[in-house]
Amino acid sequence: MKFDLHTHHFRCGHAEGSIRDYIEAAIKGGLGVIGISDHSPYFASEEDQFKPGIAMAKSEFPSYIQDVLALREEYAGKIEVLLGVESDFFPEHKELYRAVYQKYPFDYIIGSVHMVKGVGIFERSRWDNLQKEEDIIREKEEYFTLIQQSAKSRMFDILGHIDALRGYFPQLSEYHTPVVDQTLKVIADCSGVIEINTSGKGKDCGGWYPSDEMLERACFYGVKVSFGSDSHVPSRVGDEWENVRTKLKEIGFKQWYFFRRRQPVRVRL
Ligand SMILES: [Zn+2]
Ligand SMILES: [Zn+2]
Repeated sequence: MKFDLHTHHFRCGHAEGSIRDYIEAAIKGGLGVIGISDHSPYFASEEDQFKPGIAMAKSEFPSYIQDVLALREEYAGKIEVLLGVESDFFPEHKELYRAVYQKYPFDYIIGSVHMVKGVGIFERSRWDNLQKEEDIIREKEEYFTLIQQSAKSRMFDILGHIDALRGYFPQLSEYHTPVVDQTLKVIADCSGVIEINTSGKGKDCGGWYPSDEMLERACFYGVKVSFGSDSHVPSRVGDEWENVRTKLKEIGFKQWYFFRRRQPVRVRL
C-alpha cells in the first residue's frame, strides 16, 4: 500500500498547486493514503505572517485544517486523506506549539529542524565562515542535538529529513561525530519514527534524507521509518517510493508506518 505523508501546497508561499491537486496526483500515482503536511505558521511571532514565502499566516491555519478535513470527506472511498503538518521545532517555543496542535484532530505531526543558531539549514552562506574541521563538526553536533531534543519532546509522530543539514554541504557526511549514532539511539529510545524524504535531489547533496549509511545505523538501533516526498509540486507526490522501498528491504527493514489519529499504522515493506 503506497503512501506519502509529506506534501505542501500554495499556502506556504513556495509550493505550487492546491491540496486537491496533490490528492488528485496521489490517486493518479496509485497511492492508497495521502498526507497533507504544510509548514506550520510561526506561532511565536507577533506578526500574523512572519515570513511570507516560507510559511502560511497564523490566521490561515484554521482554514488549512478545514480544507483538509473537507477534502478527506469528499475523497472518502477513493483515497484516504490524512491531516498532518510539518512543524518547525523551536525548543524555546515547544509548549506554545504543543498547545496549538492539541486543538486540532491531526493524524500526525512531522517535526523538522529548519534553523540552527538562527540560520536556516539550507542557507549556503552558513558554510562560508566554517573552514576548520572542528567548527564544521560543532555545527553538525548542534544540529543533531536539536534533532535529539525534538525526539525527546515527544511532540512529533515523525521526525522530518533528519540529515538535511548536508543539503548544500554534501561533504558534511565525511565529518564524523559520535553525536549521529547517539541521536539515532535517542530516537529509538523515544520510539521515534523518521521519514525517508526524497527531496534531496533538489539540493546539492542529491538522493534522500537520511543517507543510506545513516539508514543502516537507524535499522541497527531499531528506529522506525516512514515515507515523505516533501512535494512542493503535485507531480512529485510519491516520488521514488518504489526505490526507497527496495532500499529499505535491502538494509533490513521489515515494515514502515503511516499515522492515523496519531496512532502508527504498520505497512509491510
Ligand atoms: Zn517547503
Ligand atoms: Zn522541511
